[in-house]
Amino acid sequence: MTRPPVSCPVCGRLIVEPVLKSFRLTAEGEGLVRDVHAMKAFHCQEQGHIFFIRVSDLEAEPLQANA
Ligand SMILES: [Zn+2]
Repeated sequence: MTRPPVSCPVCGRLIVEPVLKSFRLTAEGEGLVRDVHAMKAFHCQEQGHIFFIRVSDLEAEPLQANA
């Protein structure tokens, strides 16, 4: 079974690409800045919607129906 392509959760378009490939994501809170290794940012090319997906979801085997 092959993994379905990543689609934009806002408009459903399938043409998406990673954003900020050469930058790292960080999160800031309570006076601390931490690297966010577990998330990747994408945007759809037509509408520019930005969304995040867990890296583990991109790497995991897709669930099989009727398993
Ligand atoms: Zn979109």
